[in-house]
Amino acid sequence: MTIFEKIISREIPARIVEETEDWIAFHDVNPQAPVHVLVIPKRVITRVGEAAAGDGPLLGKLLLGAQEVAKKLGILESGFRLVINHGKDGGETVPHLHVHVLGGRHLGWPPG
Ligand code: AMP
Repeated sequence: MTIFEKIISREIPARIVEETEDWIAFHDVNPQAPVHVLVIPKRVITRVGEAAAGDGPLLGKLLLGAQEVAKKLGILESGFRLVINHGKDGGETVPHLHVHVLGGRHLGWPPG
């Protein structure tokens, strides 16, 4: 069981921003921007490169969830960035798909 499944099941605490039957959004414990929230599916998809065609609707809901979070935390107008890390070079550390929602400051490009 990953740390994110433990957050879903409330075994460990998290600062939850919003929750639906399909996904949950909570503040990242090590924020890289004034707003740094993770949106994760409740049904485990390990990583984006292992998603199946049938996961399409759930993947879409995660993006709409990120939009909800951006609205709720007031960064829809100022702008924000969505990041999904896959694998070693991508910097993935938790094998449970998650969309980073980053905002509240200007974000440089390209990423490091
Ligand atoms: P990634 O490196 O893309 O796999 O992202 C994993 C993210 O999970 C990192 O930004 C961590 O700071 C974050 N994280 C790890 N444990 C927790 C936790 N208990 N609560 C909230 N965020 C966490």
